[in-house]
Amino acid sequence: MNFSELGLSAKVLEAVAAAGYTTPTAIQAQAIPPALTRTDVLGLAQTGSGKTAAFVLPMLTMLEKGRARARMPRTLILEPTRELAAQVQEAFETLGKLHNLSVALLIGGVAFEPQAVKIDRGADVVIATPGRLLDHFERGRLLLTGIEMLVIDEADRMLDMGFIPDIERICKLLPFTRQTLFFSATMPPEIQRITSQFLHNPARIEATRASSTVETTEQHLVSAPHDPKLKRDALRRLLRTQANVKNGIVFANRKTTVALLEKSLSRHGFSAGALHGDMDQSARLKMLAAFRNNEVTYLIASDVAARGLDIPDVSHVFNYDVPIHAEDYVHRIGRTGRAGREGHAFTMACREDSKYVRAIEALIKKDIEWFDIGGGSAPQADEAEAPARERQPRRRQRGAKSAERPPRAEAAPKPERSPRAEAKPKAEHAPRRERAAPSRPLPDAPESGGFHQGNMPAFLARPVRAQ
Ligand code: AMP
Repeated sequence: MNFSELGLSAKVLEAVAAAGYTTPTAIQAQAIPPALTRTDVLGLAQTGSGKTAAFVLPMLTMLEKGRARARMPRTLILEPTRELAAQVQEAFETLGKLHNLSVALLIGGVAFEPQAVKIDRGADVVIATPGRLLDHFERGRLLLTGIEMLVIDEADRMLDMGFIPDIERICKLLPFTRQTLFFSATMPPEIQRITSQFLHNPARIEATRASSTVETTEQHLVSAPHDPKLKRDALRRLLRTQANVKNGIVFANRKTTVALLEKSLSRHGFSAGALHGDMDQSARLKMLAAFRNNEVTYLIASDVAARGLDIPDVSHVFNYDVPIHAEDYVHRIGRTGRAGREGHAFTMACREDSKYVRAIEALIKKDIEWFDIGGGSAPQADEAEAPARERQPRRRQRGAKSAERPPRAEAAPKPERSPRAEAKPKAEHAPRRERAAPSRPLPDAPESGGFHQGNMPAFLARPVRAQ
């Protein structure tokens, strides 16, 4: 499949080629043709699937005819977060650079008036978060009766963030004849209800990243202690097992954990920065820019803060906490392995997380393999607390390379920038069992008996193969 077969205009094709896109992604190949015939589209697609271009490209083609009028934008894109809205604007800058369109970004946390002035002058495209859009509408600065195309992006995120009533209200303010393109990574009942209410005979498209996630992202579970301090030790051990980290996102469930992890990792010499919901917009954008520019290697983030984050080439995702909602797992690991690149996702789990792990595996229809980070005696208790499936024989892990793994100094990730890394707790100086480990599968763990806290199973005393 080629972009030129999709029905896009010559100008759009030129911009696509200039952006370096050669082949449409699955969602683009499926969504663009119906979108160009003014059919509604219901797309099941995640971040990283190329869905932004799937709506931007047909929108650009459509906007080539006609022009914007004062206070009456022609198209509207709703995004759940300011960051995501800003990234869609960037996509317009890249893909719409030949179109000379007026794009207004209506997001909270920044001045209202310059946005209103932009709409006054006539905007072809409005990219907005729901709250700020309604603000403009209520102040009489915006008319929604000229909207020809509506895009609702990341609808399940909108649901999580409580935006569904706003979405319903906005949809009712738009002309009935508009075209709607609707994207969501998952389809919970509330989202299905919205789609049946506001879409008309949509083309249904399913292009989740499931296939690329399976093919290009290695997913692993890591047995972790429940105790926070031991768990932070385990996180550092895990990070050190990964010699090829270009940049990574460490997800935590709570913003307090985000702050704590950032401090802890920095203290241990890792290049880490935090992104959490309490940070103001400019601090978040600054941190994001530092991460994008590789000034910060590990971004510690909560789900809310990371929503809509578009960093094309994150090499690793580390889930310090197992996400409570299985969909969040899909979103989190969707940050790596994008556009066919190789990705690595590690999820730290203790026994208390079993049911969440099972829910994730049910959702992704796949068992996640366990990864051993070694680390001396701490995992003894952790192993005992690990979800039941870990007690099964370990399988050989893809790409196991223990024999070639360099000594720790070289294997350490590049963020270890200060000699303070030397002043680590004792466990970190312990000889790495995996260094001398044979590259063969581990012997079976006992099924029961002798596998409880304080009673180390025999296999733990044996050399462990690292990946
Ligand atoms: P998205 O899912 O829209 O966030 O896109 C994920 C990433 O894939 C972005 O960095 C896009 O620039 C990139 N991308 C989108 N479409 C293509 C394509 N057809 N070929 C290569 N990269 C793409």
